[in-house]
Amino acid sequence: MTDVTFAALGVAEPILRALAAENYTHPTPIQTRAIPALMGGRDLLGIAQTGTGKTAAFGLPLLQKLSIGHVPPQPRQTKALILAPTRELAVQIEQSLRTYGRFLNLKLAVILGGVSQNSQVNATKHGVDILVATPGRLLDLVQQKHIRLDGVNTLIVDEADRMLDMGFIRDVRKIVAHLPRERQSMLFSATMPDDIVKLVGDLLKNPERIEVTPQSRTADRIEQKLYYVPAQQKRQLLSSLLQDLALNRVIVFTRTKHGANKVAEHLSRTGVTSDAIHGNKSQNARQRALEAFRSGKVRVLVATDIAARGIDIDDISHVVNFELPNEPESYVHRIGRTARAGGAGIALSFCDPSERGYLRDIERITRNKIEAVAHDLPPLPEGQQQPEEPRRHFHNKGRKPGNHKPGGHKPGGHSPADAGAPGKKRNGSRPHWHRGRDNKKRDAA
Ligand code: AMP
Repeated sequence: MTDVTFAALGVAEPILRALAAENYTHPTPIQTRAIPALMGGRDLLGIAQTGTGKTAAFGLPLLQKLSIGHVPPQPRQTKALILAPTRELAVQIEQSLRTYGRFLNLKLAVILGGVSQNSQVNATKHGVDILVATPGRLLDLVQQKHIRLDGVNTLIVDEADRMLDMGFIRDVRKIVAHLPRERQSMLFSATMPDDIVKLVGDLLKNPERIEVTPQSRTADRIEQKLYYVPAQQKRQLLSSLLQDLALNRVIVFTRTKHGANKVAEHLSRTGVTSDAIHGNKSQNARQRALEAFRSGKVRVLVATDIAARGIDIDDISHVVNFELPNEPESYVHRIGRTARAGGAGIALSFCDPSERGYLRDIERITRNKIEAVAHDLPPLPEGQQQPEEPRRHFHNKGRKPGNHKPGGHKPGGHSPADAGAPGKKRNGSRPHWHRGRDNKKRDAA
């Protein structure tokens, strides 16, 4: 938080009232810098993770811009377009904007894959002021002429690096081709891989650049601990840690959907309230699980990386990496689920012998050696011990450690496909065995 006030940044009264009701007393650093720049009409590049307050950073100036001299939108048009990589993030952005704009008279709609398009077509038929969308479904509706993008005066691309990871960048570019050239544009990304730098060059004009956390640095407020534990003993370790009631609102991360289900089942069997969210669950089931977690009915939420993207729940006491992520950036995103909005948090990571390579990659990009702590599980008998790093052979053939890309070389073997982003490559292109299948899977993560 900073010493400046929202009023001093030029935020208008009806929005100030909504912020006061949310107990937002002071703007966060990204808000302090972004709000005046955006109100001055600048384009913006925000290098920031969720948890920094970036939604209000772009949302408040947007709401204000659209409410000044408001004219009703034209049928099937939208004035502002916000693109988000996942359904959860899109829903959350829309909810936040509704909250901040509750005393304004603006029309918002959200467009997502994985649910019937009829209600979305109806919601946008008479035009909206702000449309929040995942790229695949939006492109479908534009191509079917249910939605027109020629009235867009503001474009926001959120979590651009995740768009790239999920193979959506081509869709983003296709969508942008439908927009008027004269517009205000913003792009947010936690990291800046080359493809995003290129996208920024193509989308933004002389942007204000705001970087709030150094690239790939883990939030300093999060206490990080590491347990070296064989894969066979991870559940036992999780159960034993959960005996400590300080772990009162916990997200457990697994790499695969199957793994998430198994951990949630194990917890339920042992009397810990839990639920799993991942890409195989319907949108409704995911929202229900999130609500149960948010309200405290469920103590542990087990999630895959993609499904957890954009989860915005305050007071998460602990993040447990039951399995380390194969993309080191995901570690940063995962542990960022705790210590939100200025609070503190604890991240506990389990590392089995096959995950040592992932651990090295994480420690390299976060420039932090995670403190290892002992557990008191009995040692495994001779013969049951896990060999070190067998998985690296699939992932890292002939490459230096640290340069491995998600997706692997083969559809078989240990593939992260089950993690919700089937066989994607980091550069946004698709491996050959997935080509031609993309459209159906898009939005399914
Ligand atoms: P975001 O990075 O947009 O996902 O926001 C992270 C969290 O911070 C959300 O729970 C917001 O409700 C909260 N938040 C955003 N801005 C402020 C603020 N100025 N004061 C307090 N909480 C905030």
